[in-house]
Amino acid sequence: METIPKSGYYYANKISRLALRALEEVMGKNGVNAILNLAGLPHLIDNYPPDNLERAFDFADFSSINQALEEMYGPRGGRGLALRSGRAVFAQGLRNFGALAGVGDLAFKVLPLQAKLRIGLPAMAKIFSQTSDQYTTVAEKDTHFLYTIHRCPVCWGRSNLDKPVCHMATGVIQEALKWVSGGGEFRVSEIRCMAMGDPTCDFIIPKEPIS
Ligand SMILES: [Zn+2]
Repeated sequence: METIPKSGYYYANKISRLALRALEEVMGKNGVNAILNLAGLPHLIDNYPPDNLERAFDFADFSSINQALEEMYGPRGGRGLALRSGRAVFAQGLRNFGALAGVGDLAFKVLPLQAKLRIGLPAMAKIFSQTSDQYTTVAEKDTHFLYTIHRCPVCWGRSNLDKPVCHMATGVIQEALKWVSGGGEFRVSEIRCMAMGDPTCDFIIPKEPIS
């Protein structure tokens, strides 16, 4: 697998640790070990980043892990695992950040759905912008929200792809929406990806859930 040069941009250790634990939940310990070997990161086996907010996990390493998933399981299989892992990342830990932001309080729970999304999505974007070099914004459009990652750890350093690949981010957003909305499933689609040459990684979030 091609090595991705270090980026100098970082995720907080905590988020990377959550991602590795989430992968472990989805594919088992041996599966993660194989992925880390393939990604050229064997030093992380049994040595996950510590549970703190220090920005020390290079985007290139995060991207390599995602690339290795595809490499090992194929685009379809890798996508499924990345989506599930993304959901687990949110469920296992990012949710706690949301709780700090007031999402999940009783006063929040009684808001109408659109108000929940209007508050909850930017709150999540802010968590990433504040704890990492993943600058993220949300814009409200007529029929959907546009969730934009301006510097993306999931596809960092990859290019010439013909399909979006930031599935782990999609999974995180899906699970966040479920939590914010009180159980709704949303069809989140990545429509632009820096790995395809686009300027940003963009996700469309419909204003209404599928179920
Ligand atoms: Zn991306």
